[in-house]
Amino acid sequence: LRYLETAQLGLVAESLYERELLIKNAPDLVKRVPFYIPIYKHTSRRSWQVFIGLSLYALLGRLKAPACFRKLPHDQWHEHGLKDDHLQAIYQYTDAQTDDVQLTRAVMYSACQLGAELVCSAQFKQATINKNHAYHVVYSHQNSAQELTCRVLINATGPWHNDVQSRITPKIRVPEIELVQGAHIVIKQAPSQGVYYVESPSDQRAILIMPWGEHTLVGTTETIYQGDPADISPTEHEVDYLQNIVGYYFPGSDTDIVSQFAGARVLPKNDKSMFNRSRDTLYITDEALPGYVGLMGGKLTGYRSTAEKTMRKVEPYLSSKSKTISTKDIQLIKAPELF
Ligand SMILES: Cc1cc2nc3c(=O)[nH]c(=O)nc-3n(C[C@H](O)[C@H](O)[C@H](O)COP(=O)(O)OP(=O)(O)OC[C@H]3O[C@@H](n4cnc5c(N)ncnc54)[C@H](O)[C@@H]3O)c2cc1C
Repeated sequence: LRYLETAQLGLVAESLYERELLIKNAPDLVKRVPFYIPIYKHTSRRSWQVFIGLSLYALLGRLKAPACFRKLPHDQWHEHGLKDDHLQAIYQYTDAQTDDVQLTRAVMYSACQLGAELVCSAQFKQATINKNHAYHVVYSHQNSAQELTCRVLINATGPWHNDVQSRITPKIRVPEIELVQGAHIVIKQAPSQGVYYVESPSDQRAILIMPWGEHTLVGTTETIYQGDPADISPTEHEVDYLQNIVGYYFPGSDTDIVSQFAGARVLPKNDKSMFNRSRDTLYITDEALPGYVGLMGGKLTGYRSTAEKTMRKVEPYLSSKSKTISTKDIQLIKAPELF
């Protein structure tokens, strides 16, 4: 919803389309959840703006069944435990929630069921293209150096993309990117009946407060990050910032920390504010590297569509042209514990 503010209509429409496919194909992992947006006298997003935003969101979602939104009647406000000083309205709409780890594991497991062979966890070291336009790849697995030859090479290493790219010969140009850290905290507060979409009182950023198992998950932040992506962790400032927002909207809630984590978004480097930069996936191809695609950024929600677009780019380099099953119809199988 928040990407409507920066007019990223294509990204929102694609995410809504993919959300519906995920609900169909992974009903155990992707669930519809009620979302609530409280409007206060001082919130910068006014009631009419939220109304227009939710209407557009419903339209871009092709008015699928639960697209409707409503203002909660006044007598239901107290059920939410929200600060009621200057509370003017609460909007309710429906969106979806997943556990990113479980979803990713399910994709990997389902791919294996269809014949994919995974080597986990392997570390890519370098690749060189040979005279036959095949890649000679060196990687390490279980502390030993391994090699393979392939026609197609896809670099989907997110924040490590440029580092991995620099180890592929011949060298090609990479777009300038910036890593933007996003922190989450899990607090002791018991889970609520839905997700609260609130505005940070200090800088007006949108923050989500959502049920997470027996607790509550709060995120996220946007902090430029310049070190090794493997070392990212929430800063004290980010943790205080998120705790304060929960305390502000839910007075008396238990904001003691259960766990905290952070990840890096990969955004194009430009003069725009972090909030205004495109969240679309960036694809890097070059004639010097036939059959190679580098990709970064984007959204977890759109992973299937990203994979489909990537496959279209490498299709000419694959030998088998036989029609295979469409990912739009594959039921994702939850991975067993020991997978
Ligand atoms: C704070 C935050 C909140 C987000 N919230 C949402 C959200 O609400 N909804 C949504 O849809 N998306 C969200 N996203 C975006 C989503 O997380 C990303 O789109 C997604 O993780 C991108 O996946 P990826 O596989 O491209 O990269 P990553 O998930 O970063 O994975 C890259 C992988 O490459 C591996 N790797 C690195 N170097 C090597 C090497 N040399 N050899 C082998 N492997 C290597 C890494 O170990 C890692 O596993 C959020 C992102 C952040 C940071």
